[in-house]
Amino acid sequence: LVKLEGVNKHFGALHVLKDIDLAVERGEVVVVIGPSGGGKSTLCRVINRLETIDSGTIVFDGRELPAEGKALARLRSEVGMVFQSFNLFSHKTILENVTLGPTKVRGISRQQAEQRGMELLERVGIAAQAGKYPAQLSGGQQQRTAIARALAMDPKMILFDEPTSALDPEMVQEVLDVMTALAREGMTMMVVTHEMGFARRAADRVVFVADGQIVEQAPPAEFFTQPSSERARDFLSKIL
Ligand code: ATP
Ligand code: MG
Repeated sequence: LVKLEGVNKHFGALHVLKDIDLAVERGEVVVVIGPSGGGKSTLCRVINRLETIDSGTIVFDGRELPAEGKALARLRSEVGMVFQSFNLFSHKTILENVTLGPTKVRGISRQQAEQRGMELLERVGIAAQAGKYPAQLSGGQQQRTAIARALAMDPKMILFDEPTSALDPEMVQEVLDVMTALAREGMTMMVVTHEMGFARRAADRVVFVADGQIVEQAPPAEFFTQPSSERARDFLSKIL
């Protein structure tokens, strides 16, 4: 579904992505792990062009990433993104947060968007909160709203950048459960996370990123039991 080839990205003198080659197939769940500052967030952000790249190519669904205009807007609506900080509109209700994209970007009627929105809120287990405002919800409920909002656009892929890192421990699992269900249903996902339990259970492939490079990648069963690089062994010994 998405293929990066020879992708390089600098921030000034800092070489943040170094010759990245990475393909994510339709229906695949790729978990990206690695030390802080290694380039994981940047890797997510170049895929929906929140960041430009300096060289290389990124092809999404058969087309090179558009630079601007309507094509870029379409790409953004096809690639959902869920961030660590939920990024909900604080002055809009939970349901309005979920229906805004479909009505504004997709031109779907309000009534239809609300019906679909309620189904999605049901699916992530927060239909009862539909009329409330984000500040009235727990962090876990807010993040599940953000997932419902991403789903409302019928994305071809969802990028998650540390979706549970800002949550109190007791709320992490409810968000991971929603993500695991999505993975089982065949959603194409790229997930940056420190939740190794989730990686073991839900990932098809673990990609270990450090110093702007993909140091190694393997199915979780293999990666967690016999990582091939010293770098990954060292990282795992610190977090497991
Ligand atoms: P973390 O685990 O802490 O979230 P990360 O692997 O997601 O780290 P990135 O956020 O991709 O890492 O950052 C990679 C490097 O690029 C870091 O050194 C960071 O300071 C730098 N960087 C990221 N965004 C910018 C920016 N907009 N301007 C300048 N430097 C940046
Ligand atoms: Mg990051």
